[in-house]
Amino acid sequence: MGQLEGKVAVVTGGTMGIGAAIAEVFVEEGARVVIAGRNAEQGAALAQRLGASVRYRRTDVAQRDQVQALIDFALAEFGGLDAMVNNAAITGAFHNRFLDDDMADFDEVVRVNLAGVMYGSQIAARYMAGQGGGAIVNLSSIAAEVPGFALLAYRAAKAGVENFTRSLAIDLGEYGVRVNAIQPGHIPTRNSDFGAHPGLTAAQSAELNAIVDTIYNADQPLKRRGDPRDVAYAAAFLASDRAAYITGQVIAVDGGVTAGSAFNQNKLLSDARRDYLAKLGLE
Ligand code: NAP
Repeated sequence: MGQLEGKVAVVTGGTMGIGAAIAEVFVEEGARVVIAGRNAEQGAALAQRLGASVRYRRTDVAQRDQVQALIDFALAEFGGLDAMVNNAAITGAFHNRFLDDDMADFDEVVRVNLAGVMYGSQIAARYMAGQGGGAIVNLSSIAAEVPGFALLAYRAAKAGVENFTRSLAIDLGEYGVRVNAIQPGHIPTRNSDFGAHPGLTAAQSAELNAIVDTIYNADQPLKRRGDPRDVAYAAAFLASDRAAYITGQVIAVDGGVTAGSAFNQNKLLSDARRDYLAKLGLE
């Protein structure tokens, strides 16, 4: 028996990438799933591939009435709602430095990544509180925790998602509604495709992504980029009754990135000291 047997879940941004993997793993674990996103063609095709226990509903999570219609649709199709996975997000333009950022996409990033999560959580929780429980899983990012160059609106919105997750867990605990978040690390999807450029052939895109992989792996304890299913397994656990006593937590699925840098400064320092002393004939 799967860990989500008999449960009904909604996965926003379930039409591709990590969300599609979450839908796939949830179905394998016995859930019935409504996937949501804006691309109807892609959503319908994925729902068909995943089979009879999956429906697609066209939804823009930045539009509250559309999120309400999504939850109503799940209730009508499957008769309940046990897990709400707020996964849909956009990165916005990749401005390296904040001084170059025209902030043209700031509103959209915040509306999709933060307001969308809050709409989905509230509308789902109103139903879940009435039925005596449920699980909300929000997709954050290591970018919420690790400061750095670029994607500053994205980082800020995701940091908001994490505070919201913890605050909502406190608010909803008495209703048996658990709220947790996942921080994916470096997972190859459209969201993180450095090789995407109209001027590149497929082979050149792959070559560029291989260079990117090397850079990621150098500073990461586990020497591979993640797979969308790595994240999906964590989402399935958090949505399941096996996580019945876990709420208000943010779990990184990141190959160890947030554990700290794998870059060994002490070794470089002692090597430099040894080389310097050797040059002077002192060692
Ligand atoms: P992705 O491949 O770009 O997929 C994003 C999904 O969100 C798509 O299904 C897209 O579908 C949907 N979406 C975007 N805007 C939407 C909107 N307004 N309304 C409804 N759906 C919308 O991204 P991903 O890499 O799988 O990311 C999934 C989650 O993981 C996101 O929350 C992301 O921030 C987080 N994350 C990813 C990584 C990574 O390395 N990939 C790292 C950290 C965190 P449509 O285009 O059809 O609407």
